[in-house]
Amino acid sequence: MKTKPATVSCPVCGKPVTWTAASTWRPFCSERCRLIDLGEWLNEERRIPGEEVPDTGIDAAGDY
Ligand SMILES: [Zn+2]
Repeated sequence: MKTKPATVSCPVCGKPVTWTAASTWRPFCSERCRLIDLGEWLNEERRIPGEEVPDTGIDAAGDY
């Protein structure tokens, strides 16, 4: 009984990626998607902690 190669979805574009040694950029479909994801991750890390985020609706200040 052969084991079917697992397929995952590229976290960036959602394309199916076959999880084999041949898929160099797994879980991404390509180097491009890998770099895009890395860039987004770096942006998250660089976010200024005191920055206002208007769309969260979290009232952390409790200034009522
Ligand atoms: Zn992709």
